[in-house]
Amino acid sequence: MKGLAMLHLNAVGWIEKEAPKCGPLDALVQPLAVAPCTSDVHTVWEGALGDRHNLILGHEAVGEVVEVGSLVRDFKPGDRVIVPAITPDWNSLEAQGGYSMHSGGMLAGWKFSNFKDGVFADIFHVNDADGNLAHLPSDMDPAEAVMLSDMVPTGMHGAELADVQYGDSVLVVGIGPVGLMAVAAAALRGAGRIYAVGSRAVCVEAARRYGATDIIDYRQGDMGSQVASLTGGKGVDKAIIAGGDVDTFADVIKVLKPGGRIGNVNYLGSGDYVKIPRVEWGCGMAHKTIAGGLMPGGRLRMQKLASMLSVGRLDVAPLLTHRFHGFDKLEEALMLMKDKPRDLIKPVVTI
Ligand code: NDP
Ligand code: ZN
Repeated sequence: MKGLAMLHLNAVGWIEKEAPKCGPLDALVQPLAVAPCTSDVHTVWEGALGDRHNLILGHEAVGEVVEVGSLVRDFKPGDRVIVPAITPDWNSLEAQGGYSMHSGGMLAGWKFSNFKDGVFADIFHVNDADGNLAHLPSDMDPAEAVMLSDMVPTGMHGAELADVQYGDSVLVVGIGPVGLMAVAAAALRGAGRIYAVGSRAVCVEAARRYGATDIIDYRQGDMGSQVASLTGGKGVDKAIIAGGDVDTFADVIKVLKPGGRIGNVNYLGSGDYVKIPRVEWGCGMAHKTIAGGLMPGGRLRMQKLASMLSVGRLDVAPLLTHRFHGFDKLEEALMLMKDKPRDLIKPVVTI
């Protein structure tokens, strides 16, 4: 098979590899639409997961099943499927304990482009097909459905981790595709004011569309001071972090009300420590919680989120600023994700 791979740190290229084998519970899938992710950028150009050699990239895909194992019940060759970025082993103890994304070890539910070849290949392997694949609704655009693999569930998980409640004031740091889905999720969960942090005009416009009431441009002055001034010094009830770096947490803790929660879904690609400011953390007694998590994957999650698109509760089309056609466009799409031109939210490649 052919695929676009991380050759080693700071280098990507096309490689030929032996095609994966299909175990009894597995499926082999050929992609219909795929999207590069900022996480691919952290992995290749920041070495966030350590070095990887000739590992095919990509973890966001919609595809067509080409082969299933003998024990797979609900999928057959020819079925069009949504493939989650996170494909847990559903019989693991971690999954039984409620943390399927860590099945087999910390972050080990994230297999594509982490522990095994990803979806930027002409064929890819999906473990536990019945537990992880979801049927693609017949009327759904595969390019839009790819947003269900990672962007929608990750943004929504940010709102879950922050435990957004009716009327909460919510700070969303970062309004790339993940942060935009976090804005949408906060609004869907009944947030009141939503303060969205970003600088690119295309993202700002989308953030307003998804429910942001206030925009904070972190390039035009200290983010914390801007939040403090907009909230009359009171701060926010909840915060979702979907951008920034290890230093972002200190700024957010400073503007979080006592009892507040931070839901972090940002993948911290560099820096050794996250520092917590002692005084603003109530000298350890402020009930300010930081929850950080990898998105939940699996079939049920995909089916439920797909239903939100089907009924028109959520529109992901505004995310897709750059559409490409053809496998050979993948590298260009990935480099866009690395370079983040100011008119980009998310590229998608149909095949
Ligand atoms: P983008 O790079 O597209 O967006 C990042 C956003 O953060 C932009 O709005 C950017 O603003 C803003 N930003 C950058 N630096 C700062 C700063 N110092 N302070 C405040 N805001 C800042 O990323 P994505 O939306 O694609 O992904 C977001 C994160 O989520 C990534 O780290 C990604 O790897 C991670 N992720 C995590 C997953 C999980 O399961 N937990 C799954 C998928 C992704 P500007 O407008 O200036 O560009
Ligand atoms: Zn991703």
